[in-house]
Amino acid sequence: MQKITMTNPIVEMDGDEMTRILWQMIKDKLILPFVDLKTEYYDLGLVRRDETDDQITLQAAEAIKKWHVGVKCATITPNDARVKEYNLKKMYKSPNGTIRAVLDGTVFRTPIIVPGIDPYVRTWEAPITIARHAYGDIYRATEYRVPTTGKAELVFTGDDGTEFRETIYEYECPGVLQGLYNKDSSIESFARACFEFALSSKQDLWFAAKDTIAKKYDGRFRDIFQELYETEYKRRFEEAGIRYLYTLIDDAVARVMRSKGGFIWACKNYDGDVMSDMISSAFGSLAMMKSVLVSPEGNYEFEAAHGTITRHYYRYRNGEKPSSNPVATIFAWSGAFRQRGIFDETRDLIDYADALESACVETITDGIMTGDLALLVSGEVKTVNSEDFLDEVRSRLQNKLRV
Ligand code: NAP
Ligand code: MG
Repeated sequence: MQKITMTNPIVEMDGDEMTRILWQMIKDKLILPFVDLKTEYYDLGLVRRDETDDQITLQAAEAIKKWHVGVKCATITPNDARVKEYNLKKMYKSPNGTIRAVLDGTVFRTPIIVPGIDPYVRTWEAPITIARHAYGDIYRATEYRVPTTGKAELVFTGDDGTEFRETIYEYECPGVLQGLYNKDSSIESFARACFEFALSSKQDLWFAAKDTIAKKYDGRFRDIFQELYETEYKRRFEEAGIRYLYTLIDDAVARVMRSKGGFIWACKNYDGDVMSDMISSAFGSLAMMKSVLVSPEGNYEFEAAHGTITRHYYRYRNGEKPSSNPVATIFAWSGAFRQRGIFDETRDLIDYADALESACVETITDGIMTGDLALLVSGEVKTVNSEDFLDEVRSRLQNKLRV
């Protein structure tokens, strides 16, 4: 068979534990036999991050800026236990956080829909994508446990001499206090990433906040979205036949529950944290969530939303063949191939990405699936381990590519 050729490489970021094992299996069974694979390889496994003092993560992020498309395996974010387990020089930061800081992106999370694995919400027919603003608000808040009676004030001192001072509360007893911030530049790049993603995926965009209460804070988010929409995106949205909607967060929640799905829901940082877990469990399983980081310059990094599946990895090391679900990791690869194909205008690569995804979905609709999914369906199914699942996907993929 003539293998599919690639013009430019994808930045490949290897990872840890069970997902690292799945990564190699996916390449061996589903990619290398069909694609003349061109990648720039970065090993973000914890051992290599430690050897390079985490420079490898920064290099990978820079490489995504250069090649515009990356695919990443799940990686360990070290905690105290991991520092001991891997005898690390220090407790490195989350690679995802490091990469996001370099690319300044927004993460879009979308459930992978498979007929027969029904969402808990009956009306949902198409996936709902959550876009979370991953900067500021309570995640960078300053907090204080107010120990006694006294006065709390909000004070701002501008470099140009501007001064603002207002009493927050005069405490007549102990309490709590919190200071939040965000900035126009970050909100704007979030809004831009959302508008761009809506256009590239041809889906409506919803944004919701609480501007009736936080008139200035959430009001600023609303206004930035609205201004950008009016000045840069309205015409393109109309041409694409898609819609931008701003509404109150409470109204959005109610509308989401009654909707058919098939849109992007842009959320402030905390709302996105909470709502993405709600959406993923309502659609079925964390193992069926895909995730893409889109930067305002149009760089894409694809990954699975789940972690390194540590518990399965320990079983694997004991000689077992765990039934870990590789679907979200396969979709990370297919997403990267599709985006590479769009950028390079290589139709074959896009077709291959489509075939790979539908081979996964068909395997599951044929009743062959990993243990996590078998729990979600009522009928007769065949539960297989990861390797057997990938072999089933491969035989369907082969048929589709007629080789
Ligand atoms: P996890 O790896 O997502 O796994 C949690 C549990 O969810 C698993 O034990 C398994 O449940 C189930 N699960 C997740 N993905 C699955 C899959 N593909 N197939 C089948 N079952 C799946 O989360 P974690 O155990 O909290 O974290 C493990 C490591 O991953 C940590 O070191 C963390 O830092 C890292 N992490 C990385 C990323 C990332 O790189 N994006 C994201 C999150 C976490 P059962 O054991 O019940 O089968
Ligand atoms: Mg969370």
